[in-house]
Amino acid sequence: MAGSPLPVAYGDIEAAARRISAHVLRTPLVLSPSLSELSGVPVGLKLEHHQTTGSFKLRGACNALLSMSPDERKRGVVAASTGNHGRALAHAAKAEGTIATICMSHLVPDNKVAEIRRLGARVHITGASQDDAQREVERLVEQDGLVMVPPFDNPAVVAGQGTLGLEIVDSMPEVGTVLVPLSGGGLASGVALAVKTRRPGVRVIGITMERGAAMRASLDAGRPVEVPEVPSLADSLGGGIGLANRVTFAMCHALLDDIVLLSEAEIAAGMRHAYAQEREIVEGAGAVGIAALLAGKIDTHGRPLALILSGRNVDMGLHRRVVNGETDLLRENAA
Ligand SMILES: *Cc1c(COP(=O)(O)O)cnc(C)c1O
Repeated sequence: MAGSPLPVAYGDIEAAARRISAHVLRTPLVLSPSLSELSGVPVGLKLEHHQTTGSFKLRGACNALLSMSPDERKRGVVAASTGNHGRALAHAAKAEGTIATICMSHLVPDNKVAEIRRLGARVHITGASQDDAQREVERLVEQDGLVMVPPFDNPAVVAGQGTLGLEIVDSMPEVGTVLVPLSGGGLASGVALAVKTRRPGVRVIGITMERGAAMRASLDAGRPVEVPEVPSLADSLGGGIGLANRVTFAMCHALLDDIVLLSEAEIAAGMRHAYAQEREIVEGAGAVGIAALLAGKIDTHGRPLALILSGRNVDMGLHRRVVNGETDLLRENAA
């Protein structure tokens, strides 16, 4: 952890925990008998998919909102995410009495639009791509003074996600390894900073899918790079880290011990195991920690391990096909 100071400090995470404690659930960490037996060490599951809105994204969104000045909050917040960040921001804004505007392209399916509206957000539909939606965000920031809340590359968002790390250490003080789903790196940055400050010897490993592993490619290149986006069962892990990344690239570089990559079949096996053995419905991104253990890709060094089930917002038809072992779906997703 040497080198230049990181964009988020441990104290920011403790402050976030105090700020958001009345607004988010403190999710349980439970021991998995089946994964403990398989791994030969105690394996704890942080059941964060039970978080309000179905993912941890609510922590960062709440912390960002509650860190704003009253004037900023009055102006309203804006983002381009139609996934878990959009849901979280819509929910948090409604709870705090402000308005969220979620920008999306014409390609976004109607059910997603309806879901975001149901959460109380305004929806702006423009253009035919995520880039067009992002341009609309920038227009609303410029013209209407809305405040952008990005999904990961923001210090308040990272500090909010880091509160999960505090809870993991509280629940499992003897933890030796933490597995964290990884995309833009907001979750991994915050959790790694929290866990390693409290327990300097703990290893923190990011888990993501083989194709479209933007943080891994960027760390290998020594700077943020773009990778082609390929559909995946772990759809919440898609997207780049941003070529102008300010926060999470440096933090993942400083704090992650390793990044493990998974195939679509391995992610499907993780979802199946979560359902059949743990009786938990998780989306692909939420199952990657289990999947990495099942695939034999984690060396526990004989120490207790914790992993985060990060979300559960999966289409139930897709989930049913995954747990039924329908393999055509892997080809579809790989196409
Ligand atoms: C956003 C998300 C991730 C990845 O988080 P990053 O901060 O982008 O690395 C993992 N799992 C779920 C369910 C998510 O919604």
